[in-house]
Amino acid sequence: MKLFKKRKSKYIELSSNPQNSEPRTGNLDHPDRIAIFGDLHANLEALDAVLADAKVQGVSRFICTGDVVGYGANPSECLNIIRKLDCPVVLGNHDSYAATDDSLKEFNLNAMNAILWTREHLSAEEKEWLRGLPMTVATGNLGNSFRHPPPATCHSTLVHSSLLKSESWCYIMKPEKAEVALRAQEPELVFFGHTHVPSIYSYNPKTDEFAEKFPAQEGIHQLEPGWKHLINPGSVGQPRDRDPRASYAIYDPDAGTIEIRRIEYDIVSTQAKIEAAGLPLRNAERLAKGR
Ligand code: ZN
Repeated sequence: MKLFKKRKSKYIELSSNPQNSEPRTGNLDHPDRIAIFGDLHANLEALDAVLADAKVQGVSRFICTGDVVGYGANPSECLNIIRKLDCPVVLGNHDSYAATDDSLKEFNLNAMNAILWTREHLSAEEKEWLRGLPMTVATGNLGNSFRHPPPATCHSTLVHSSLLKSESWCYIMKPEKAEVALRAQEPELVFFGHTHVPSIYSYNPKTDEFAEKFPAQEGIHQLEPGWKHLINPGSVGQPRDRDPRASYAIYDPDAGTIEIRRIEYDIVSTQAKIEAAGLPLRNAERLAKGR
């Protein structure tokens, strides 16, 4: 099923109808299916639920788009899980600020207070690990040996915000921003995070056509060959598309598909931990609303 409507040089708002997606069958035995996830934000219950689901789905490889900490009450626990996964991870803005003493003047009060709290609750060694995370990772040919790709054959890259301005943490929230990023994008696939909204932006360099799915609905989305794709798996621990369920994606290189999966978890427990930790209550309240 073709999911992209195409029109010359124009972004097209694709309908958010979940019926457009294939049934969620997946290929449970395929060894090369890869989970892409990020913005877990110290939400241990959501992370556990996502990893349990990925296991059921037969996923054995992971890619993390950053923001392991910030907002939530379990930064060390989440960080340790990510370290044990031993997967490609990029630095998120909350990771960076939690691991340094940089000024927080660009954050709103709730995010700022959560980062100050996180600074106090991470060990020096954990902060050092976070500071060592790269801004981008060339994840290579995901169909084969993405862990040690020769750069010349790299066709996928991982970044938290945008390849264009990774250090300034800009947000790709609008089609115009995605269009600029996609025109400059060299790899076929770029996975990013930061916006907390699952999205799939695509560009055909030969025909100069664009397509977008924002937000990308739960289910399987076919990636057109020959197009470049800019893919956000949504947020595990702080979804912001009015769906409170944890969000992540599974990439199937053989089928050329991205599956957006939404996973329920114990939000009440996460909220209770945030409250007990003395973190801003707004960080807990918004979990139930997914915004
Ligand atoms: Zn984030």
